[in-house]
Order: sequence, then structure tokens, then C-alpha cells
Amino acid sequence: MIISWYRQKIRDFGFFRATWALWRVAWGRAYVKTCNALLPSRVACPCCGWEGRRFFDYVEMGYTAKNISCPRCDSHARHRAFFLWLRDGYGIEKRSGSALIFAPERALAQVWQAAKRLTVFRIDIEPSRGVDVIGDIMRLPFASDFARLIWCHHVLEQVHDDRMALGELHRVLSVTGDLIISAGESSLPSTREFGFSDKAFSGNRRAYAADFAGIVSAAGFEVEPVNCDFSENDKRRFALNDERFYLCRKI
Ligand SMILES: [Zn+2]
Repeated sequence: MIISWYRQKIRDFGFFRATWALWRVAWGRAYVKTCNALLPSRVACPCCGWEGRRFFDYVEMGYTAKNISCPRCDSHARHRAFFLWLRDGYGIEKRSGSALIFAPERALAQVWQAAKRLTVFRIDIEPSRGVDVIGDIMRLPFASDFARLIWCHHVLEQVHDDRMALGELHRVLSVTGDLIISAGESSLPSTREFGFSDKAFSGNRRAYAADFAGIVSAAGFEVEPVNCDFSENDKRRFALNDERFYLCRKI
């Protein structure tokens, strides 16, 4: 996994920058593994049950975020928050109908497996990701009003035409269904379109901002931010953050 990550960085940024990033990853992981071996447990991953002193750091070309990814299942803060909310807030195990899961996160695989009454379709445009349906979110191979649940996180940033994608999500969602969606939002007032897939931003085509909920709303959804209301103890123990996500229904 780290080798394929390194090769991709070489393709995107060249040998020297990629090797410097690899060194930061290797050094950071050696440090965290030593901490986890020697010091008492302080954090835990609800997705897989791992416990330790701290999570791995997340290394990108321009920055490092501390205490982010689970050494066992690679969950990040938002995945751990999703897991807890789906299980304890949304009651996923009691939900039924068809669920479309876009770009399925490895850390949430157990959630969908445990939802025995849901018929889950894992979807991605990349055939290498072991999904059920290879499909383009801008042209979905599903009938209108098909899905009881659509799960779509950090996908629209990378889509060529996000308005077209939102139109498709609106078309395939049933009138009683839920769209649960998020994107990386900055605190700036307006979304910035790059006009191309920017490798320095994880291949994103745009940087969403405080207007993200309005963009989803304009596609014909009622948009409500989800209030997880985690305790301070849970925030510390599971290393959660305050990233927003939304529960949306067709108007
Ligand atoms: Zn984990």
C-alpha cells in the first residue's frame, strides 16, 4: 500500500518531493509505533476495535495532520464519527431498502455488512476498488426513485460537473429517502473551481467553502446539518473532529 502511494507521488510530484514525503511518513510511523508499544492506551477506533497511544499522522505534500489514521483499518476522524453516528444516531441496522454507497470507505465496511435489511450497492468509477457497480456519478445506471439511502462523502470535489452529479443523486433518490453527504469545506465564502484535477489537492477539481450546503440545496434538496453531539470524552478517545455532514431529502 505504501509502495503504491509512493509511486503515485513520484508520478504527481517527482522523485525528490515524493521521497521527502515518504521519509516523513516512515519516520512518523516509526515514532507512533514506538509510542504505541511503550505507552498506555489513550485512543481507540470504533470501526475496528484497535486501541493505542495515538493514531498515525496524515502526511500530504504540503502539510502533516497529527493523530489521524487508524493503524489497523485506516479510518480517519470523519470515518470514526460516521461510524458512531450511523450506529447510534441513525440506527443503520434497522434501515431497509436499497443503499448506494459512493467511493466506499474501507473503515465503514463492517457498518454496511451489519445492515442486513439494506441492499447495498458499492459504486465507484474506478474498477480497481472492488465495488459492486462501476459507474459515473454524473450518469448513474439506476432507475429514478430507486434508492432509500445514498451515502456520498468527499466525492463531489473530484467530479467534472458537480451540478450534474447532484442532479443524478436527486433523480435516483426515493421521495422518502435520505442523501447523506459531505465535502471538505473551507471557511471561505465561496467555492473555488480549479478547472482541472489538481494533484496538490488530492486530485480535486474544486475547493468547497461555506456555500456547499447551498449548492446541494439548489439541486432540489432540503439540507440539514447532522448534529452528532459527541461527548468531550468521545471526541478525545476516538480523536473526532467537527467536520460537517448533511442529511438531505428531496423537496
Ligand atoms: Zn480502525
